[in-house]
Amino acid sequence: MVSSQKLASLIHETQKNISLYINGEFTTALSGMTFKNMNPFTNEQINEVSEGQSDDINKAVAAAREAFDHGPWKTMKLTKRLEYIYRIADLIDEEIEKIAYLEALDTGLPISQTRKMVSRASENFRFYARMVENRLVGDAYQVDDEFINYTIHAPVGVAGLITPWNAPFMLETWKIAPALATGNTVVLKPAELSPLSANLLAEVIHKADLPKGVFNVVHGRGEIAGDALVKHPDVQLISFTGETTTGSTIIKNSADTLKSCSMELGGKSPIIVFEDADFDRALDACVWGIYSFNGERCTANSRLFLQEGIKDRFIDALRIRVANIKVGDPLDVSTEVGPLIDKEHYGKVKGYLEIAKEEGTEVITGDIPHELAKGNFVAPTLILNAKNNMRVSQEEIFGPILTVMTFKDEEEVIKLANDIKYGLAGYVWTNDIKRGHRVAHKVDAGMLWVNAQNVRDLRTPFGGSKSSGIGREGGHYGFDFYTEQKIIHVSIADHHIQQFGKNSGR
Ligand code: NAD
Repeated sequence: MVSSQKLASLIHETQKNISLYINGEFTTALSGMTFKNMNPFTNEQINEVSEGQSDDINKAVAAAREAFDHGPWKTMKLTKRLEYIYRIADLIDEEIEKIAYLEALDTGLPISQTRKMVSRASENFRFYARMVENRLVGDAYQVDDEFINYTIHAPVGVAGLITPWNAPFMLETWKIAPALATGNTVVLKPAELSPLSANLLAEVIHKADLPKGVFNVVHGRGEIAGDALVKHPDVQLISFTGETTTGSTIIKNSADTLKSCSMELGGKSPIIVFEDADFDRALDACVWGIYSFNGERCTANSRLFLQEGIKDRFIDALRIRVANIKVGDPLDVSTEVGPLIDKEHYGKVKGYLEIAKEEGTEVITGDIPHELAKGNFVAPTLILNAKNNMRVSQEEIFGPILTVMTFKDEEEVIKLANDIKYGLAGYVWTNDIKRGHRVAHKVDAGMLWVNAQNVRDLRTPFGGSKSSGIGREGGHYGFDFYTEQKIIHVSIADHHIQQFGKNSGR
């Protein structure tokens, strides 16, 4: 718990204007421009943020380039580089309460949930330090007694990292940790709607005393600062997490400079509950999976498919649970659902309730208490009697709204689950173990859970299929993106070399 004295000092700190972090220094945008950062609980201003433009991106990329080409980062002993990575993890742990608080204040995510995300953030650094030490290995190929060919991994260069607002600190560190641990330098463009924890991350990394230019942060609009990063010729990699349409724009805009792009995009993931499932556990997982993180979660199980035999009982239980979810102040530890990120997103999510009614579904939603009227609150909602071809079943709403459908048998539900453009995650609940595996194999998504909620094993690949992403991050899979593999061919005997021009002379 944060003491009231500490809370006061944290609040004071958030009033400070936020700067960019370039070449080891906190600095304002060259243009002097700023944008307002708003509190989703009150819709009052928290502070002003320096608004980076393309000249700030140029400055940050130049610093990162210099640090990559001439700095000690990529050539220093691995143990030394990894000491920095472990130090960042330790410094994050020292600031857990502060970061969790700022994240809740800035995003509206309940503080009990931001605390967990911050612990995952320090683990991201420790995990990647261990991975680089143990798994960043090459292969060797013997060719008879003539050659030994082997591969090595080299850092690629300057990594441009572009992140969303929905779990900002965790997602930023999920990219920064492998990028830095493998020896790249970084320019981070955080989401403009959630800059507080990215600023704190810059403070933490500054304290860790990394060589200048290795890590840089430029706040700013996606279409301006983000776009400049995407198009910059000295940036080799773009790791992006965000909306599918933005991902597609970024791929187009990075084509002229031939960047390698990793895309973690939107989702509309199915949760399939068969009649023989463990009812109570499936219910718990379903409710948590859609209403945690205010429903602003890429892997949320936003489409529920219930087998006909349990439909009525499951919906009755859902209605009770959903009506009891505690909606409130994100800084209150007992809050389960907080306000949505901003007015615009609130409008979009509310709009889907109207669409749901127009599409002929039954919308079960609650009232928001008067004392929460200033915030961007949408009550946890169920959309019943939906059809799979409706907009509420096909489009990512990204709020606390669950669309419920039914199915007869395995064959039908697989068809329904796959009849969508997204393929990020899927959840299957059944006590028939063979069926669990079978369905998981057939649902077209990057990540499936059988009889489980979304529990991540950091060693495994993370990413989606279809419109939910390109490539896999996580585990050693991230090395394919953050490193360049080189093959070295070494002759160990005098193999035959053609002697052109030797014997055919005039
Ligand atoms: P968004 O696409 O609007 O923005 C993401 C980031 O991209 C922001 O930093 C933004 O400033 C930047 N950006 C916007 N336009 C840009 C452009 N033209 N060039 C470069 N950068 C640009 O996404 P959002 O609203 O912040 O986040 C919500 C979305 O993220 C949802 O669709 C969600 O599913 C997705 N998401 C996916 C994952 C995953 O791992 N697959 C994880 C979290 C969130």
